[in-house]
Amino acid sequence: MTAYNKVTPEILDMLRAAAPGHILTGEDINPDYSRDEMPIYGLSAPDAVLQATSTEEIAAVVKICNDNKIPVTTRGAGTGLVGGCVPVYGGVVIETIKMNHILSYDLENFSVTIEPGVLLQQLAEDALTKGMLYPPDPGEKLATVGGNVSTNAGGMRAVKYGTTRDYVLAMKVVLPTGEITSFGAKVSKTSSGYSLLNLMIGSEGTLGIITELTLKLIPAPKSTVSLIVPFEDLETAISAVPKVKMANLDPQALEFMEREIILSSERYVGREVFPKKMNGEDVGAYLMITLDGENEDEIMTRVESAAELLLEEGAMDVMVVDNPQKLRDAWATRSSFLEAIMEETKLLDECDVVVPIKEIARFLTFAKKTGEECGLEIKSFGHAGDGNLHIYQCSNDLEKEEFEKRVDTYFEKLYKEATDCGGLVSGEHGIGRGKVKYLTASVGETNMELMRGIKSVFDPNLIMNPGKVCYTA
Ligand SMILES: Cc1cc2nc3c(=O)[nH]c(=O)nc-3n(C[C@H](O)[C@H](O)[C@H](O)COP(=O)(O)OP(=O)(O)OC[C@H]3O[C@@H](n4cnc5c(N)ncnc54)[C@H](O)[C@@H]3O)c2cc1C
Repeated sequence: MTAYNKVTPEILDMLRAAAPGHILTGEDINPDYSRDEMPIYGLSAPDAVLQATSTEEIAAVVKICNDNKIPVTTRGAGTGLVGGCVPVYGGVVIETIKMNHILSYDLENFSVTIEPGVLLQQLAEDALTKGMLYPPDPGEKLATVGGNVSTNAGGMRAVKYGTTRDYVLAMKVVLPTGEITSFGAKVSKTSSGYSLLNLMIGSEGTLGIITELTLKLIPAPKSTVSLIVPFEDLETAISAVPKVKMANLDPQALEFMEREIILSSERYVGREVFPKKMNGEDVGAYLMITLDGENEDEIMTRVESAAELLLEEGAMDVMVVDNPQKLRDAWATRSSFLEAIMEETKLLDECDVVVPIKEIARFLTFAKKTGEECGLEIKSFGHAGDGNLHIYQCSNDLEKEEFEKRVDTYFEKLYKEATDCGGLVSGEHGIGRGKVKYLTASVGETNMELMRGIKSVFDPNLIMNPGKVCYTA
């Protein structure tokens, strides 16, 4: 057990001298700093907040915290879903949201350099004005890119383009000692020792603070087409997924969703786009597929092949969403699942387990059945193309304590099943505070020891985001 110190008035004076006008305390600290988007993992207030504006300011504050053994928790936009930015042991929260400048483009090297607090939406839109695509596309567009890199966020385009990790070329980092260093380079390949860059990506603020990022861009595809594909049941929908991939149709997005979640989300957004009945039969599940490419004719040829294949595989219909308003409504419905479930649910937890693609259908059946056995309502959707499943545990009538007990039993069973079939605890949200226990069970003590060893090399005083990933203090 590591004992941390409190921020005393003397330390506060030092922090204020290091970052004049940027330190918040007392009532100026908004309650939002105590939580992320999944408050079930607990609320915990910091003693002080740095609203950071530069690398040097962060380094100075971190050095004071390290010298005085005060925990430091980095916060982007606080949209995480595993309690990652919650300052479990108090101390100082360093918020990056004001470091929101796109610094420079280097289009000859297909790259952009930004501050970590740039929002995903801001970067995506700005890159498009240069004819470039920043491919990672996690659902929450108001997350910071620094947060995306720190969680290795995935999203809907991962099936074709990969995850955030695949687009990080270099970064500037403030280490937990307060030293400033850089990892990576603006090159397209490297065999230059251990990849410290890749250790930082997905480290959830436990190894250091990212203060600048150089990211890879690609030329934006000229055209995209989305398909809504209704099926009688989820099993038939999911079993079509490997066929779509094998047929080389190269979808940009390949999502599955169940009827119930579409109904909730359409109620939430107030519009109906998805068909509920086809030829008198109830639709039970959907695939949503996006194809992209250089010209519309080429994409339409692939759409025709996709339609033929999907109908052979049991699709009730294949609807091309070519009307821009309908397209926006369809993706708004897909993007609002979490908010829709939150709106209708008193108690909620979630996981983003990832399993091999061929296990998806069997795993989802297991997840539903286990939910029934545990007395929990289960709602699911996810990235069918890459096996990353979002499974929500919901209850409107249990007491919190009982709900948490049941969810814990549920997760133990679910993650064991995932591990047994070759899957992992998190595909994109990370471990944060909420999934530490299940990570240990999944990867084993030897691997947890390795992670703790790496942590202590970066962070000898264990001040950086304690209580998360591998170090519970
Ligand atoms: C509606 C909704 C949809 C979502 N959809 C997706 C999705 O499709 N895919 C997906 O992957 N996630 C998704 N998320 C989760 C969330 O948006 C991501 O985890 C995102 O990457 C978090 O970014 P943030 O800026 O909000 O980070 P925060 O929540 O503030 O922090 C997340 C973690 O990163 C660390 N961190 C943040 N910035 C830095 C930094 N500069 N240096 C070091 N560490 C840092 C924090 O300490 C914390 O551990 C969704 C969330 C919501 C609410």
